[in-house]
Amino acid sequence: MLIQPQILSLITTHRCTAACDHCCFTCHPGREEAVPVPNLHNYIEQAAEIASMKAVVFTGGECFLLGKHLDELVLTATRNKLRTRFVSNGYWASTPRVAAARLRRMADNGLGEANFSTGDMHAKYVKPAFVINGAVAAAEMGLPALIMVETFSTSQFSFDEFIGDSRLKPLVEAGKIAIKMSPWMQFQGKTSLVYTPAYLKEIDPQRSTGCGTLMNVLAVNPSEDLIACCGLTLEEIEELHLGSLKTRTIKQILRETPDDFIKIWIHLVGPDSVIAYALSLDPTIEVPPNLAHICASCRFMYNHPRIVEVISATPPPFKDDLVRQYAMSLFRPVSEDDLRAGVKMAMRGCNVDDIKTMRKMTLEPA
Ligand code: SF4
Ligand code: SF4
Repeated sequence: MLIQPQILSLITTHRCTAACDHCCFTCHPGREEAVPVPNLHNYIEQAAEIASMKAVVFTGGECFLLGKHLDELVLTATRNKLRTRFVSNGYWASTPRVAAARLRRMADNGLGEANFSTGDMHAKYVKPAFVINGAVAAAEMGLPALIMVETFSTSQFSFDEFIGDSRLKPLVEAGKIAIKMSPWMQFQGKTSLVYTPAYLKEIDPQRSTGCGTLMNVLAVNPSEDLIACCGLTLEEIEELHLGSLKTRTIKQILRETPDDFIKIWIHLVGPDSVIAYALSLDPTIEVPPNLAHICASCRFMYNHPRIVEVISATPPPFKDDLVRQYAMSLFRPVSEDDLRAGVKMAMRGCNVDDIKTMRKMTLEPA
């Protein structure tokens, strides 16, 4: 498979301290599935053998349930010259002191970045103050910290109060903590999720630049499948599952996986472009409204009974161009700076009032 992956995302477990409505993997405290710890170390070492690989992300479920093993995994990555990041709900950051002590152990092992999630669904299980404790502790240790806030039109999350926190606000304005909003996506949950037209319009142009994670990020799930992206809907798209790591190594799976034009197309232009082309061939395909998240479009695209079929029967005239463009992009060396460009952009320091205005756009008018 023509691929130069840069990030290994380890979905360490589907167990979580929370049970958020519409969690993409339906995680909760009763789930048992997890990658055995020795295998996590092994996958980091396998990733390090791939020349293009630069970083490892620890996620879940809740990766901090790994306890001291998480610290050791960070160290394995650091020893293999891979940068590290975690994604957490912050349940462990109960006080500023506890948060700092917990993060110090990871920072000493070379942790590179801290990511947290919060919003309506998360806040039912983890106080937003814990997320602030964690992000502030990370920033004060010099670790770039990012907080992802879920949003949808009827969100009741006290966003202004959150971002106006006296410890958080100055660090956001100084570019040491980034706040990003993400449309909370429909999965198996109960809450009806709708997005405002203004928000849909705002995020629309960002989607035509393609899916930056497909084939750049490889994920390993608790069943120990190797997956071609780390998208929210990865468990609902069979085509993204490349093979089982229980019988082959990462390198073997990549070597034995054939190239796939549709993945290249999504990578470069995004699933909306694939859907639009399929519609030009078969206008009876009905596209649901409200596909706010790029992964929702991707899930719709792959699971529709006609889309892949019509495209395979009549590939687009620009197919060879896209493949050439993709192949050329693989010759461009990826530096550590490239990898951190997204973080740097998010970390450039934001006026908190501007973020509040963005948030208002995502909400139904009162
Ligand atoms: S914190 Fe994350 S992994 Fe855990 S239930 Fe919520 S969305 Fe799922
Ligand atoms: S858009 Fe598709 S390929 Fe990209 S991250 Fe989402 S599910 Fe994965």
